[in-house]
Amino acid sequence: VGITYAPLFGQDGKLHNIIGNLRDITNFRRAQEMQNVFISTVSHELRTPVALIKGYASTLTRPDAKWNEDIVRNSLGVIEEEADRLTVLIDDLLTASKIQAEHGVRLRLADDVRLDILAASAVERQRMQTDKHTFVVSFPSDFPAIPGDATLLRQVIDNLLTNAMKYSPRGGTITVGGRFNEDSVTFFVRDEGIGIPESELPNIFSRFYRVDNKLTTTTKGTGLGLYLVKSIVDAHGGTINVKSQPDYGSTFYFTIPRD
Ligand code: ADP
Repeated sequence: VGITYAPLFGQDGKLHNIIGNLRDITNFRRAQEMQNVFISTVSHELRTPVALIKGYASTLTRPDAKWNEDIVRNSLGVIEEEADRLTVLIDDLLTASKIQAEHGVRLRLADDVRLDILAASAVERQRMQTDKHTFVVSFPSDFPAIPGDATLLRQVIDNLLTNAMKYSPRGGTITVGGRFNEDSVTFFVRDEGIGIPESELPNIFSRFYRVDNKLTTTTKGTGLGLYLVKSIVDAHGGTINVKSQPDYGSTFYFTIPRD
């Protein structure tokens, strides 16, 4: 509770009364706490890849060392992966701060965005980095182009796909696909991961929100991904939904109008 008070003096200069004001500042405190957790999470998230890049680069450049080709290739692979991770994180942070500053998402519209092609290339990028998951890409061959912001929609797909991988620690199949009708296209990402308890479903699209479980404390994340996904889908006049069953998996799907 936040308390403020003001003394009321009479014309005789004496204290006549005190006005007190009690306010419930739970939400304010919660927002402050979330912000603090966010800053320390982001710092940690930035530091880990930078430390890895630095470590591998300084090992490779040690003047006395002679590395065989495999070691050099593997180390450069880690450096590239960590640089990619940094790029995604920084893109997310920039988009989130732009949304705040501009009070919403500003779209750079093109009229021919192909979600099926964006999905196929996102899956290809992930396939190169992991063999833990099996990926299936499933779009009808006549899946239509839509008007949209390709850069932001790519960010949506990347976020949904990396979440599907992060929250399926045992592996399993990840299916990315789409359907369409006369009015709209629907895009989905389905995983066989840990799922989300029903009581948490209303919260997961909030900024900085992370479900409190064992996996989220050990998995990298800022709680920004789904907030960005929803903001971007909303800006396209679309809707986003999730179906999930703990221990069986989740399907995130969004629908965007075709006109
Ligand atoms: P984070 O950076 O924590 O991944 P997101 O905003 O992307 O943040 O997701 C918010 C929370 O929703 C996550 O912390 C996680 O608990 C839950 N979540 C998101 N996607 C999935 C998924 N595919 N399976 C299970 N839980 C998920």
